Amino acid sequence: MSAARPEALFRLHLVTGAVLSVVCVCLPRSLGRDGLYTLISCGCVVMFVVGVRRHRPVRARSWWLITAGLVVWAAADLLWAVYTWILDISPFPSPADVLYLTSYVLIAGGFWSFVRARRGENEREGLTDAAIFTVGCTLISWVLLMRPGLEAAQGSTTAQVLAAAYPLGDVLMLALLVRLLTTNGARNAAFRWLVAGNTLLLIADSAYQYTTRTETYTAGLITLPWLLSYVCFAAAALHPSMRHITDGTGTDETAHFTRGRLVALTVASLVAPGTLLLQLTFAVSIAAWAVGLASVVLFLLVVYRMSGLLTRLDAQASQLAALARTDALTGLPNRRTSDAELQRLQTRARTEGVPLCVGVLDLDRFKAFNDTYGHQAGDGLLVTAAAAWHEHLESARVGVGLGRSMMLGRWGGEEFVLLLLGHDLAGAAAVLDSLRATTPAGQTFSAGVACWDGLESAGEVFARADAALYTAKSSGRDRVHAAASAPAAPVSVDDPRSGETLGRS
Ligand code: GH3
Ligand code: MG
Ligand code: MG
Repeated sequence: MSAARPEALFRLHLVTGAVLSVVCVCLPRSLGRDGLYTLISCGCVVMFVVGVRRHRPVRARSWWLITAGLVVWAAADLLWAVYTWILDISPFPSPADVLYLTSYVLIAGGFWSFVRARRGENEREGLTDAAIFTVGCTLISWVLLMRPGLEAAQGSTTAQVLAAAYPLGDVLMLALLVRLLTTNGARNAAFRWLVAGNTLLLIADSAYQYTTRTETYTAGLITLPWLLSYVCFAAAALHPSMRHITDGTGTDETAHFTRGRLVALTVASLVAPGTLLLQLTFAVSIAAWAVGLASVVLFLLVVYRMSGLLTRLDAQASQLAALARTDALTGLPNRRTSDAELQRLQTRARTEGVPLCVGVLDLDRFKAFNDTYGHQAGDGLLVTAAAAWHEHLESARVGVGLGRSMMLGRWGGEEFVLLLLGHDLAGAAAVLDSLRATTPAGQTFSAGVACWDGLESAGEVFARADAALYTAKSSGRDRVHAAASAPAAPVSVDDPRSGETLGRS
């Protein structure tokens, strides 16, 4: 994806849109000002269409939904100007209200379509975060906008419906904005212009709804965010990066619980008790039901979110623990695990009164194998040998039976360790010997095996097995040597504790 560079038209649109919007706001209330307002809104709709047609985005449907929303919105503005300047009326409710509300639904539909394209595997987390934030904002909207609006509109059902419908439309837009921000996907220039447009629209709507409770609307500074919102939406469509707004980033961004998100969720969760305290402080009538209900929903959502995080944490902890126990190349238990297992088996051998033997295997002349066939082939041999041995031990059920246990681990390099509980020295040597035939690629190994005497440490019994391995190597390789019983004594031919070698020689 090449970095999309803004084009001349985009820059021209931005500068003209911003300057005209400021000029419009500074003008006194007049036909000229409303004419300029209409010119800007209709101009932005045209720019939006130009952008979509020029850049031909993959998910054109989403963009056309927003286009439709902007057209309907501009039509409502135009209709209102006709009421004001031609018909000289201010009807409420009027067809303009229907148009305004329809435009919310259409723009929200476009945003929803973006969300669908951009959402990844983090569905549950993004959705929950968006819900937490939206519920918090809905409560604020209820306390500041909806409830006073409903109270003021008493008597007329239509007025009541509209008093609730506008803030609800904004809540819908907010929910989709937050959900869009919690999705994966490119956060390019077009994305940011789209987010800015939606944010400005929400600011203007909320400011309008709040101020019209106390004073008559005279279209002052409030119109600036509305106009700039048009400008931003059109800028999003005109920017070449709009084509990639539905592209995934390939990373799971929400997997990181960012500090910003934590702050946002904390603030949202504190909205319920916060509004309650403010209502108490300013001695206004308390929206008890709304605060109570929002608290319950927020608590449940936060707990749900936490349970998700804990589940993820648990899974990651087990994954890490498994990684720490396992040898990355062969998948066998690694040295750390072998050490721990030897100590565990010593306890079992003592309490169950069964023999415990330790075998150490070392591939013969493996350096030469690496030198001849390459290190990668050497790795391959380690993997296939480990798998072949393991499979043989499993199928021979070496570790199965009362008082029996078996573990094959990779000690390091081309050395492996075999722990055998419930096998005496001769039995353990026979098991090791049976592995020789299963070693792949004609490779041989030498092994030493020692039986724990019940007193020595794990290190001591291992050292005896290692010494036996050395004997196997020095007496010709490709064989298994059983260590003399501990403590090591001078070995003589007729000493019953003398070691024994199984193998080719
Ligand atoms: P001996 O019969 O005396 O055991 O001879 P050897 O060549 O097997 O023993 P030596 O200790 O001289 O060399 C061991 C070789 O094992 C050296 C090293 O290149 C190889 N090796 C150790 N770990 C790995 C590994 O993970 N992958 C590969 N490919 N080779 C390894
Ligand atoms: Mg070695
Ligand atoms: Mg070796």
